[in-house]
This record gives sequence, C-alpha cells and structure tokens, in this order.
Amino acid sequence: MSSSPKPEVRSYRNYIGGQWVKSSTGETFPVYDPSTEEVIANVAAASSADVDRAVGAGRAAFDSGPWPQTTAQDRGRILFGLAAKVRENAAMLAELESRNTGKPIVEAEFDIADVATCFEYYGGLANKVMGNVLPVPANALSFTLREPVGVAGQIIPWNYPLLMAAWKLAPALAAGCTCVLKPAEQTPLTALEFASWLEGVGVPPGVVNVINGVGETTGAALVAHPNVDKIAFTGSAAVGKLIVKSGADTLKRVSLELGGKSPNVFFADADWEAAVDGALFGVFINQGEVCSAGSRILVERKIYSKFVEAMTEKTKRIKLGPPRERDTKMGPLVSKEQYDRVTFYLEIGKKEARLAVGGSRPKQFSKGYYIEPTIFYDVDNSARIAREEIFGPVASVIPFDGEKDAIRIANDTPYGLAAAIWTRDIYKAFRVVKSFRAGIIWVNHMQPTYVEAPWGGYKQSGFGRELGPWGLEEYLETKQVFVNLDETPIGWY
Ligand code: ADP
Ligand code: MG
Repeated sequence: MSSSPKPEVRSYRNYIGGQWVKSSTGETFPVYDPSTEEVIANVAAASSADVDRAVGAGRAAFDSGPWPQTTAQDRGRILFGLAAKVRENAAMLAELESRNTGKPIVEAEFDIADVATCFEYYGGLANKVMGNVLPVPANALSFTLREPVGVAGQIIPWNYPLLMAAWKLAPALAAGCTCVLKPAEQTPLTALEFASWLEGVGVPPGVVNVINGVGETTGAALVAHPNVDKIAFTGSAAVGKLIVKSGADTLKRVSLELGGKSPNVFFADADWEAAVDGALFGVFINQGEVCSAGSRILVERKIYSKFVEAMTEKTKRIKLGPPRERDTKMGPLVSKEQYDRVTFYLEIGKKEARLAVGGSRPKQFSKGYYIEPTIFYDVDNSARIAREEIFGPVASVIPFDGEKDAIRIANDTPYGLAAAIWTRDIYKAFRVVKSFRAGIIWVNHMQPTYVEAPWGGYKQSGFGRELGPWGLEEYLETKQVFVNLDETPIGWY
C-alpha cells in the first residue's frame, strides 16, 4: 500500500446566509475515511435553531432578495460559473469524494465530471422556461407564467454525494428557487468545499445554504419547517415515507427518489460476453451502493448454470483495494453502519439461498469496511434477499422460464426504479420494455445515466423525476393569468 502522508483533520462549519457559522450548540460530529476507519474531518451539527436560521436565510433571499429577480440569463451564467469551478477543482473533489465514500478514484472522477455537466445542462435550460398562451373561448388573453416554487429543502444520500447535490441544486437554482441543502452526515465534505465557491461566482448570500447533521434531527427539522415550500429527497424508502408524513402537516411539495430491487434480465439469446459483464457491472459498480443496482439477476433457465458459473469466475477476479489506487474496482462500504447492514443480509442470504462466491469480509484487509462481491443463486423471488434493498455488493440470481415468467418475476416487487433486459431479439426486447413497471429501462446495458434523460421511479421507488426538463419542473409552479379584453361590464347583478 502507498504510504502518502495523512491529511490533516479539517473542521467545517455550516454555510448559512453566505457565512460559515458554528453550531448554536457547539456540537460537532466526526466524518470518516471508510478504508482506514480514521476521522478525516469534524463538522458542525446544525441544531433546530441553525436549521431555522438557514431556512430564514433562504426565505429572505427568495421573498425579498435578488435571486428570483435575477434574469434567467444571469442565473444560467452563474450555473456555468459553478460548473467551471467544479472542473477547475475536479482532481481535489474526486480525491475527497473517494476518501470520504470509499469509492474507487476512477469512479469518483466520473462523478465529478457529471456534476459539472449537470450545472452546465441546467445553466443552458435556465432561460428556456416558457409558459403557454391558452385558447380560452373568451375575449381575453389567457396565459401561464412559470414561477419558482420557493425555498427548497434538499436531502442528499451518501452514495454519490456531490452528484446528488448537483441533481437538486442545479435545477432549483435555474428555476429561481433558494436552497437549504442537507448532505448525508457520512459524506458532507465535497458539498462543503463546493459551497466555498458560491459567493465568488455570484450566488447571493442565502440562496444556497448547507446544513449538516443526522437525519433524525437536522433532516427532520428541515422537513417539518413551515417556511420550506418543497422537499426533494433521495434516500431510503423508510425515510421517504416519514418525509411524506411529516411534510403533510404543511402540505409541502415532495419529490422522492428512493430505493429499488431492480431486475436485470438475461435471455438465452443475449450476447454472452456482454451479458456476463453487464450482470456484474449492474450490481457491483460503486460497491453496489446504487439505488438502481441490478440486484436481482434473472437468467433464462437454458443458460442459467453456465451463466452463474461465468459470473462467479469473473467476480473472483474483481480487484478490491484502497480507493485511491487506480486499478481498484471495488473499495470499502461507506460506513460501519452500512457494513453491518450488508453483513446482516449476507447471513440471511446464506440461509435463504446458495452462495456462489463471496459472502464475507475479504481476508487481505485488517481495516476498512470491505465486503467481498457476493453472488447468491437459486434465490426464490419471495426471499428477503430478493425483496429488500441491501445497498451493497450482493447479487441474487433467479432462474426463469420464458418471457412471461421473466416479466412476472421482474414486476413482483414493491419497487419500480429501474430494470434491464438483455437479448438480440428486438421484438422481445420492446415487448418486455413495455411490460416492465419501472421508471428507467435499459436494453443491453445497465446503469448509464445522462442528465438529458429523466430519472425516477414507479411504485415504492418514489415520485417525481430528476434530470432533464422534468427535473426543472419539480421546482416550478404554474400560474394561470386571465386578462379580460372586453370593456363591457359583466352585467350579472
Ligand atoms: P441510510 O440509512 O442508508 O443512510 P437514509 O435514507 O437514512 O439512508 O439517509 C438519506 C438521507 O436522509 C441522509 O441525508 C439522512 O441524514 C437523511 N435522513 C435520515 N432520516 C431522516 C429523517 N427522519 N428526516 C429527514 N431526513 C432524514
Ligand atoms: Mg438512515
């Protein structure tokens, strides 16, 4: 292992109203490098008073501040400025993201490039928001205005920390909203570095506030706050349900991107090499800590045994390693909590199904939250490891007989985020595409994600869509305006 000097343990505050402020209670919490289990930063925990201050700053910047009056062109330019900052600092951000999450550096570099692309996309979209003129049957002019929804509370997960922040900040700012962002408590560092550039590129104070702390206190205070107009959340289904309930008291607009148990379906006529590769990529990328992970691998019985064998052999060669080594393909899980959760499911899986490969902690690491990439096979779709989101490098392989059976098993899940199908038969491919009950479908691939295309789920995977124009819609209200052109009195009374 390389023995680069230890980076200093840095301290971060919350970013509220354009200033770096300490916690009102003085409380801080540690942030870890999951590959060494060492503390790499201490971060101020936002109390409910701090949340109130951040929402107040967002409210003031929206109600009486310059942001909604800034022209759409100028907001677009500012977003391009943010993208440029991200590109200038890409190496630092990727290093920090990899250090804090445990993800391989090469994957972190892709994430950071996507962050910049996201700000560029919504920078371009800012001045393309348009209303309609409506053909009402009256001597009148009827039209719509598209207006920002107000103060947006944005709650972010730890698997793609800065990218998930970008998916929410960029469209909100393009729309003219102000933001209170709460990163995941495990991984707040890149969002805090990002916040340090806001003022310099022209984002006025209060337009973006970043508050830190655990979900149960800081996050819950943000969701309950009466002056927040909208909550955008990405995370677990359990917390998504809490947010809908708590948000109901003030009838907040809510958009949710929750988990999944996405099927990755392989027919016997699929391109063999691509299919085996695609099965592993679909479930193991980012240590399997992916909401759209293809964690149910459905394989047509004709190729089932051979496919399990080929996946197993290839999985044995996946290189686990320190996240900053460039040939590392899998790093540690993000936290002790996540390591324990995945370990718990490994034990369940060993009782419910047969283990092809993996299933424990890799022997070569004395520290770090590493888990071997794991494949269970002969999994029944009613098993817990086929129904519950694990959020780790754990695949459940399920055999099927023919197209109908594949569709039935694929859709037999409470979730509906994503699905993929592998075949060379285009009739079959499109029939299955139409049959899947999920928001994102891939054919002969799994996971590619582009800012131009909508992202979000059916069923218990949430509601609302991020990315593309759909992502901007989530931050807009529609105002209809009726202008009477007929000067004669109504004459009713
Ligand atoms: P995980 O359990 O894998 O960390 P969560 O859904 O709990 O996933 O976390 C996703 C985000 O939601 C994090 O930013 C977390 O702090 C936040 N969060 C967790 N619980 C709540 C809650 N009750 N209210 C608001 N936010 C929460
Ligand atoms: Mg949680």
